[in-house]
Amino acid sequence: MEVVRPDWVYTASGLKRDVAIAMDDTRIVGILPPERQPRDVVRLPGRLIMPGMVNAHSHAFQRAFRGHVQWSQGEDDFWTWRQAMYGVANSLTPDGIEAISRLAFLEMAESGITHVGEFHYLHHRPGGGRYTDPDELAHRVIRAALDVGIRITLLRVVYGRHSAGKALTAEQGRFGDRSPDEALAAATRLAAHPDPRVSAGIAPHSVRAVPPAWLPELAAWDGVVHAHVAEQPAEVEGCFAEHGCSPLQALDRSGLVTSAFSAVHLTHPSAGDVQRLAEVGASVVACPTTEMDLGDGFLPNDARQKTSVCLGSDSHAAIDLFWEARALELHARALAGRRNVLAPPGERHGLAKRLLHAATSAGSRALGSDAVGLQVGSEADLIAVDLRHVAAVGMPPLEAVAFAANPQWVTDVWTAGQRIVADGRHVARERIIADARDHLLR
Ligand SMILES: [Zn+2]
Repeated sequence: MEVVRPDWVYTASGLKRDVAIAMDDTRIVGILPPERQPRDVVRLPGRLIMPGMVNAHSHAFQRAFRGHVQWSQGEDDFWTWRQAMYGVANSLTPDGIEAISRLAFLEMAESGITHVGEFHYLHHRPGGGRYTDPDELAHRVIRAALDVGIRITLLRVVYGRHSAGKALTAEQGRFGDRSPDEALAAATRLAAHPDPRVSAGIAPHSVRAVPPAWLPELAAWDGVVHAHVAEQPAEVEGCFAEHGCSPLQALDRSGLVTSAFSAVHLTHPSAGDVQRLAEVGASVVACPTTEMDLGDGFLPNDARQKTSVCLGSDSHAAIDLFWEARALELHARALAGRRNVLAPPGERHGLAKRLLHAATSAGSRALGSDAVGLQVGSEADLIAVDLRHVAAVGMPPLEAVAFAANPQWVTDVWTAGQRIVADGRHVARERIIADARDHLLR
């Protein structure tokens, strides 16, 4: 059992000073006032301990070309970026996918992320030939997460076509399913993974990439469902032309939009979409950095205000969930032309709590977990944030985390009671970086 005492603990019932956290090798077993703390308590001066952050939308392999698509090829938009991404997706070997995923997850762990939702669509050999184990690449990605020590929800993507009336192209062969059953069977096998840190969901990639007849069959899945929804105007127009309704409505008519559903992006929702998501209690995954990087646009403010919003680092142009959380409010201000848009009126520290909720519990919920903050009995997935940085001087602790912190402020990370990052460094950092180097785009 480990007992640590930072200066502040952000518990499910608020910020506490001078308490210690006792954890066994899975859960928090005590939040101890000074008189109950053991003599050998490990002190973490200047630190604030809070729940680990949840990255609800990741494509780990896309870390391979970070920085290599930041100069112009002439006309640059989402679709030209996608072409570059396809080149990388088809060049990586299974070893490469595993090594790059491990690098992405290492960066997540060191930046305070303890649970990732991996929207996984590299299933087959380039061109579409099957591996002996049809789940080979999913297992590689899962192994990478477990090696680093973070939880993973493998969102097994369903991908059946290029777009309306167009079959998969050769370069999409690696993603493609022959039927909805193929995808459901894979997700079922992955959900039976013996490690309790692993779970699985199903992810119709988008209405563009899934034939309409497949959608109702996918609704048979009992568990979390994620989909890219209304990320680009062309996707919305294509959906109206084919389905006569918005992407969200097409998914809804097929029975896929429930409280276990997450709409990723939703940067171009149609009338009624936000209301419907709010009605059923579905989640929205905002990925502000990627949405800016790709020129997708902004999640509208009514979605930020009415739905359960969580966060993702998606393409990994950057991995910084503090920033993603902050952007949720700062973009809302830029859109509304006023301040404190997402703040509950009159509640002191309410806005910081709201943003930290998006980065933690809201993400857990979207990934099918019941984690609701730091309390006795909850999973010991914790991070320590160092508030001794000069930028934090004079700031209230929660506002320091929500409005000033960055990944370098994370000093210690525990998942299931195991400390995987100490003094800002993961124990296997050097090996993981060395293994990934050969597979990164040069
Ligand atoms: Zn995505």
